Amino acid sequence: MKVVSNTPRVAVVGGGWAGCAAALTLAEAGVAVTLYEAGRTLGGRARAVELDGLLLDNGQHILLGAYEQTLQLIDRLRPAAASDGLWRLPLTLEQPPDFRLACPRLPAPLNLLAGLLGAHGLGWGDKLAAARWARAQLNDAASPDHLSVSQLTRNQPDKLNRLLWHPLCVSALNTPPEIASAQVFRDVIRAAFGGRSNHSDLLLPRRDLTALFPAPAAARLVELGGETRLASRVATLDATADVVALGTRDGSAAYSHVILAVAPQHLPALAAQVPALEAVARTVANYDYQPIATGYVQYDDRFRLPRPLLALAGGPAQFVFDRGQSHGQTGLLAFVASAAANLPADWLEQAETQLQRVVQPGAARWRKRIVEKQATYACTPGMRRPATRTAHPRIFLAGDYTAGPYPATLESATRSGVQSARALLEQL
Ligand SMILES: Cc1cc2nc3c(=O)[nH]c(=O)nc-3n(C[C@H](O)[C@H](O)[C@H](O)COP(=O)(O)OP(=O)(O)OC[C@H]3O[C@@H](n4cnc5c(N)ncnc54)[C@H](O)[C@@H]3O)c2cc1C
Repeated sequence: MKVVSNTPRVAVVGGGWAGCAAALTLAEAGVAVTLYEAGRTLGGRARAVELDGLLLDNGQHILLGAYEQTLQLIDRLRPAAASDGLWRLPLTLEQPPDFRLACPRLPAPLNLLAGLLGAHGLGWGDKLAAARWARAQLNDAASPDHLSVSQLTRNQPDKLNRLLWHPLCVSALNTPPEIASAQVFRDVIRAAFGGRSNHSDLLLPRRDLTALFPAPAAARLVELGGETRLASRVATLDATADVVALGTRDGSAAYSHVILAVAPQHLPALAAQVPALEAVARTVANYDYQPIATGYVQYDDRFRLPRPLLALAGGPAQFVFDRGQSHGQTGLLAFVASAAANLPADWLEQAETQLQRVVQPGAARWRKRIVEKQATYACTPGMRRPATRTAHPRIFLAGDYTAGPYPATLESATRSGVQSARALLEQL
């Protein structure tokens, strides 16, 4: 096995948001990059799915204003004068008729404080308890590393946990509060309310997820002389001190460096082939996973929700999004059930009943369910997340599971991609 020349030639394995961010960063630094993606569409767990000519997503996504890396990448790739494809809304959690929290545009954390004190559906005792608890999360230096979110919130009134903290935990960490990491939950609260006032904004995609970042990133990569190989699953990885060879069903190719940007559930099969990566393969093989279900329901074109998204009470869905308002797909709603283990077969019909307690959308024309069984790793206390540098000097990792302050999110994916590309560039 030999590298053809001393010029660096890098392969990025996995065309999710982490792999696309890594490949783009390398290509922009003048490195020759080949991006391998097993699927036919870029984007991985945040990608477009076509249904009878209608562009949906494999799962409805939402971004936070604090996702600085992701937003910067999306913004950087947008054509001049075009919008960034995101709809920015000040944080509002609305679960009619019981609860409404709206954070006004004030410097953080006053926005949270004002939101809590003005919340509809909470008594003054609850509001003050919530404000005191939130302040402690923003200021407390002691790490709750070993605690679960249920333990962190155990002294909060039941109503607050039911309406606010536990739904926020499930949607941010995709992990039930009983087993979710208090440390990561606190990090998310700090990211949203400990920085600039717009960090707590909710950003709704206005176009499909592949078009939002992975497709423009790949287009730029090709413009810069790189290459994208779709439907190209890497099956073998063979590394020596000075070269790494990848094998797909079409043959094998040698690279000076490789970034493995596959999902954690796909990492052990590749990493176990390289002795230096065996420890990381073992760590990641121990992860547990949590599902997310998205149910699309088409109602009459004239139907619209009172807001672009609503929280839903009484399970199984936590949120419903109006794709008419965000994507121009009139009458189409997306119901989301996070941490959705043990969903009943009729979960989507149950979710529609949840909505009917609030509004009457009429009869459904069609329904489509997409259940991602391993949507994200379970974000549990003390879980070990590997660094982007590995024990092999020519192999790097990228992905939402690598070490960082965020749980499994688009931001953890893009941050890791950029970080691993920069670590690689430092070595050249
Ligand atoms: C339904 C759902 C809803 C979500 N909602 C949100 C949300 O609202 N907000 C948010 O921030 N995050 C959300 N997430 C999480 C977010 O989508 C992920 O954290 C992020 O997309 C992970 O990106 P990644 O690049 O690390 O991994 P992935 O997206 O998994 O990318 C890995 C890629 O590697 C490819 N691959 C695997 N093995 C190989 C191989 N051997 N050879 C070549 N290619 C390979 C895969 O096909 C995949 O495309 C959600 C996830 C799901 C599933």
